[in-house]
Amino acid sequence: MSDVRDLVIIGSGPAGLTAAIYAARANLRPLVIEGELSSTGDQPGGQLMLTTEVENYPGFVEGIMGPELMGNFRGQAARFGAEFLTEKVTRVDFSERPFHIEVGDVELKARAVIVSTGAKAKMLGLDNELALIGHGVSTCATCDGFFFKGETIAVAGGGDSALEEATFLTKFATKVYVIHRRDELRASKIMQERAFKNDKIEFVWDSVPVELLGGTMLEGVKIRNVKTDEETVLEIAGLFVAIGHVPNTSLFEGQLDMDENGYLVTTTGSRTNVEGVFAAGDVADHVYRQAITAAGTGCMAAIDSERWIGHQKHEAEILGTPTEW
Ligand code: NAP
Repeated sequence: MSDVRDLVIIGSGPAGLTAAIYAARANLRPLVIEGELSSTGDQPGGQLMLTTEVENYPGFVEGIMGPELMGNFRGQAARFGAEFLTEKVTRVDFSERPFHIEVGDVELKARAVIVSTGAKAKMLGLDNELALIGHGVSTCATCDGFFFKGETIAVAGGGDSALEEATFLTKFATKVYVIHRRDELRASKIMQERAFKNDKIEFVWDSVPVELLGGTMLEGVKIRNVKTDEETVLEIAGLFVAIGHVPNTSLFEGQLDMDENGYLVTTTGSRTNVEGVFAAGDVADHVYRQAITAAGTGCMAAIDSERWIGHQKHEAEILGTPTEW
């Protein structure tokens, strides 16, 4: 590994891996720091690793399983020479060039960086919610649905994720409540139709979970009707939290411009406020948040990086400045 790399890609979802494919084919020999699995929702390969069937990724007439799709992305990037580090970045310093990226005790230097750290599941913020993850509370139906065979469970949320999870979970559970804080769903019509048709799904409208019941294992959830303030208890063995996502940007606070929700702000193409640092995928997109749009912006970021690095090298040559800029 040379001392200063042309390109380091932080994050390994559709955005990071597409960037890796393009950058590797442009001979930038990218290093992808792909993250590590953690109980707080970090997931190498991104959110599709937590999905079942992906039916809307173009090119797969019959659909494809999320983890298989991401395995293909990774294999394709590796085929062209992308390298991988299965660890988490602990600190970055974009204040001088080459940029510094720390992975534990290891310090890497890069001429350009693509940030594609994605977003992760939002939690309800209830007292013992995190402690109960893996003990009845989950953010991943694909991972944990199987454990609820023959049980009554609930999903919190009213978007596509909530309905996708609820529909999937009816394969295992005998009954799935969908607890939504309004009386109208945010989910797409097709998802709504599927869920409404499913006899095992019961909607609990205008309600929010306020307390998780049970000791070491979840036994129920207390919910409050936000219109009447009435509280009731649903006896459930599992609660799947599907209320949206937050971008993984804490690492870049004070260095990269963010909007009020913490999403990175990009200007032309994938450029951030720091020249040579590019952003792609859900980390900079709270609107579309699709695998295909993430992949598209990953491609843009790789092309932007390649052009930027080329331009910098050319200038350095003309000016006779050291190549370690
Ligand atoms: P989302 O669209 O942001 O929906 C989040 C849902 O959770 C909303 O219904 C919201 O209620 C509710 N919510 C948020 N905070 C809450 C809280 N603190 N307490 C209770 N409820 C809360 O998120 P998403 O469903 O994860 O979807 C994200 C994006 O991915 C969307 O663009 C979606 O279309 C896409 N997606 C697509 C597919 C697919 O096509 N197969 C599958 C999954 C996701 P309100 O409605 O009242 O705001």
